[in-house]
Amino acid sequence: MQVDTVKIRQLLEKELEEATKELEELEKKLEIKGDYGLGIGDPNIIQWELNLALRDRAARKVEDIKRALDKLAKGEYGFCEICGKPIEEERLELLPYTTLCSKCAAQQRR
Ligand SMILES: [Zn+2]
Repeated sequence: MQVDTVKIRQLLEKELEEATKELEELEKKLEIKGDYGLGIGDPNIIQWELNLALRDRAARKVEDIKRALDKLAKGEYGFCEICGKPIEEERLELLPYTTLCSKCAAQQRR
């Protein structure tokens, strides 16, 4: 597969910037918890738990993007971490930081 590394790097760096910002905002929201003194049964706790889940997702995304940038630098970009086969081009266009091909990703989700 012919990869346009310059374009992908730009894309990944932009994604990384956005994901890092998102992560920081969620971290900030999670810190506020103490000030409100949220207790069990408080409707705000649901929002807090939602933010926690979003924070975890954002943190994973940041890690994935960093890993993709690392692979790009080493010339290993675009290969599935599980089966080692090239990741589908259409998939990389949608998820430039993915580390799995669609087949392995589907299996992981089960
Ligand atoms: Zn695979």
